[in-house]
Amino acid sequence: MIWRLDIAVPTPAHSALGDLLSYSHHEEVLPGSLVRVPLGRREVCGVVWAATEEGAAGEPGDGGHSDAAPGVAGAAAEMTLRPAACVLDALPPLSAAWMDLVAFSARYYQRAIGEVALAALPPQLRELSAEQLARRLKRRATAASKKAKSDSAETSATNAPAEPSAPEPTPEQAAALDRLADDAGPFLLFGSTGSGKTEVYLRAVANALDAEPTAQALVMVPEINLTPQLEARFRERFGADAVVSLHSGMTPAQRLASWMSAHLGQARILLGTRMAVFASLPGLRLIVVDEEHDPSYKQQEGARYSARDLAIWRGRREGAKVVLGSATPSLESWHHSRPPQGEDPGGRYRRLEMPSRIGADAGSDVKGELPEVRLVDMTLQPPRTVLSAALMAAIGERAARGEQCLLLLNRRGYAPVLACGDCGWKSECPHCSAYRVFHKIDRSLRCHHCGFAERVPRACPACGNLDIAPVGRGTERLEEHLGELFEPVRRPDGSALRIGRIDADSTRHEGALEQHLAAVHAGEVDVLVGTQMIAKGHDFRRVTLVAAVQPDGALFSSDFRAPERLFALLMQSAGRAGRDAAFLAAQGSRAQMWVQTHHPRHPLFQALRQHDYPAFAEQELAERRAAGMPPFAFQALIRADARTQEAAQSFLNEFASQGALLEGAAQVSCYPAVPLAVQRVANVERAQMLVESASRGALQAFLAAGRPLLQALRQGPQGKGLVRWLVDVDPQAI
Ligand code: ADP
Ligand code: ZN
Ligand code: ZN
Repeated sequence: MIWRLDIAVPTPAHSALGDLLSYSHHEEVLPGSLVRVPLGRREVCGVVWAATEEGAAGEPGDGGHSDAAPGVAGAAAEMTLRPAACVLDALPPLSAAWMDLVAFSARYYQRAIGEVALAALPPQLRELSAEQLARRLKRRATAASKKAKSDSAETSATNAPAEPSAPEPTPEQAAALDRLADDAGPFLLFGSTGSGKTEVYLRAVANALDAEPTAQALVMVPEINLTPQLEARFRERFGADAVVSLHSGMTPAQRLASWMSAHLGQARILLGTRMAVFASLPGLRLIVVDEEHDPSYKQQEGARYSARDLAIWRGRREGAKVVLGSATPSLESWHHSRPPQGEDPGGRYRRLEMPSRIGADAGSDVKGELPEVRLVDMTLQPPRTVLSAALMAAIGERAARGEQCLLLLNRRGYAPVLACGDCGWKSECPHCSAYRVFHKIDRSLRCHHCGFAERVPRACPACGNLDIAPVGRGTERLEEHLGELFEPVRRPDGSALRIGRIDADSTRHEGALEQHLAAVHAGEVDVLVGTQMIAKGHDFRRVTLVAAVQPDGALFSSDFRAPERLFALLMQSAGRAGRDAAFLAAQGSRAQMWVQTHHPRHPLFQALRQHDYPAFAEQELAERRAAGMPPFAFQALIRADARTQEAAQSFLNEFASQGALLEGAAQVSCYPAVPLAVQRVANVERAQMLVESASRGALQAFLAAGRPLLQALRQGPQGKGLVRWLVDVDPQAI
C-alpha cells in the first residue's frame, strides 16, 4: 500500500512551492512525525502534516487534480511523487496542538508552514539521521535509568530531601495566587518592581505541577543570560533535574537535550526566551511570560512573531493558564485587562495587582518602599554638564557609606560621532546612513548597523586636521569621566571608588556578564555605568541610587511606542534601587531615582515621579484612541529592500495602488512608502509602508491576498527580481 505524505519542509514564505510538499511512503506515518525527504538535490528534515492512503484522495469529481492537493503534486501526479527517505520513528510525533500553533503562526505572520515548523525545532535535530537519533534516545534512556537507580539507592540511605525553603506569601501574593487558582485567565500580574512576582510564578508553577504528575510549565523571560538568578531560583525550588532551559546562548547539543527532555515529558519546567514558545510540551498546563512588555519577545527576522501573543493563543488552544507579568505592562495588555465599567464589559484578561514592595525580611516590620524620584532640570545647569552637582554629591555620599549607585546611559561606545572642527567631517559609515561610533578602548570606529570597523584615523581624512574630536557621550566615555570626577571621593576604608561598566562591549566574551554581575552583587563595585542591560530584573541588594543620565531622546521620537518604552525602562531602572529594605534601614538611607532632563514638566516624568503607571497608561491610551493607533487599530509594515531608495519606494507604492482591489482593502489604509529611520544599511536602501485597519480580520485577509501580488510585482518590471520584501505583522518599531 502506498501512502501520500503531505510534509512541511523548510521552504521560505515566498517560494513557488507552496506550503506543503507531497511524498510517497510504503506505510502509514502519524501526523507530527519527523521525516527526512529529498528536496532538490538536498535531503532535509520535514514534519508530516497529513498522511493519506493513495486512492482515497483526489477521487473523481472532488475538484480534480493539482488544486485538490495542498502541495505541488496532486493525485494525478501520484506516480511521480518522490519517496520520503526515512521516518525518524524513534521520536514520538509532535502533537496536534503543536501543529496547530505552527499553522496559526504561519498564517498570522504571513510565512510558510514549513519555514515556521522547522525553525521551531532545535537546529541539531534537523540534521540527525534516523540512526543517530535512535542512538541519542537510547543513550538518554540508559543515563536516566542509571540515575534513577542511584537516586533510589541514595534515598533508602538518607531521608527524603528537605523541602526547599520558600517564604510565606504576603497577603498580596496570596490574593493573586487565589485568583490564579480560581479563574481560567489569561492573567496580567501587574506588580511593582520588588513586589515578589517571581515568588508568585514559583508557587503558580508548583500548584500546576502538583495537580497532575505529567503537568509541565513554560516560563518565558526576555533575555535569560541577563537574569541568571531566576534560573537558580527555579532549580533551587524544584530540583535541577526538573528544570531545563532553552535560549540562543546554548550550544546546539544543549538545545537538543533540553528540547528532547521537554518533548518526552521528562522536564517539568522549561525556562526560555521567545523561541521557547514553540517548544513541544505535551503536558503544558501553565505559561508564564515575565516582563511581558519587553520588546525582545518580538522576533525580528523570518517569521516576525510575538512570543507573548502566541503564548496567549497557545494557552487557549491547550487549556493552559497564561500569566503575563510586569510592573509596566505593554499598553496592549493593559488595555486587554481593563476591569468592567458601566456598559464596558472590560477586557479579556484578569488583572492581578501587587502594588507594594516586599520588606526584605517578611518577619520584620521594615517595609519596602519605591525609590523617591528626583528630576534634575538640565536647562538650569551650566552648559555641557554631564552630571549635575547635586547628583554628584548624592553619589559621593552614598559610595562613602558603602552603598552602590547605577548610572544608566543607553548608548554604548565612547562617543556616537567623531568630528573635525575645521572642515565638518564626521565619522559616517560608508555603507549606511549612520555615523560610526568611536570606541576608545581599541581606537576603532565601528558601525552599529553593519559592523564595519576601522582604526581611528590619525588626522581628518578630508582636510588633514590633526585635531579630530569625539562628539557626544557613550558608556565608555562616561566611565572614564566618572573616574576623573570621583577622584577625590574615598570609600569608608580610604580607598578610591571602584567604577564598573556593563554593556554589550564589556560583556562580549563568554562568562563576562556573569563575572560583572557577580562583582556588583559581591559589593566590589561602587558605581556601575551601563546600558539598559543593567535595568533588567536584577535583584541587586546594595544599590540605593539609580540615575538616568540623558534619557530625553525618546521623548520626541517618530516611533509612537518610544514614550511607552522609555517609561518602562525608567520604572525598571528605578526598580533596581532599594530592593533590600533591611539594608536601607540599617544604613539609615532612602532609595532614590534621579532623572536628568531638559523637560522636567513632561507628563511622562510627572507620572514617573508618582510611580503611577496607570496614570501614564491612561494618558497614552487616550492619545492612541484619539489617533486611531494600537491597541485601537491593527498594523503591519511591508518592507522593501533594494539598491535604490526610489526602487524600494515605487515597489511599495505600486503594491498600494494595485492592492486597492484586494480582499479586505476597503477596510485597510496603506500609507505612502517612506524610508526607514536608518535608511541605508550595508549598501541596501530600505523603505517601508504602514498598513493599518480597525479590523484585525480585514488586515489579515488583505495581507494574505497581498502576498501573491507582492511576489508578482517583485518579478515584474517594478521589482525586476531585485527588490526584497517582507511583512511584519503587529510591528514593535515603526
Ligand atoms: P519582582 O520580580 O516583583 O521584582 P522579586 O520576586 O525579585 O520581585 O522579589 C523581590 C525580593 O523579595 C526577592 O529578594 C525575593 O526573594 C523577596 N521575596 C519575595 N516574596 C517574598 C515573601 N513572601 N517574603 C519575603 N521575601 C520575599
Ligand atoms: Zn577636516
Ligand atoms: Zn554601516
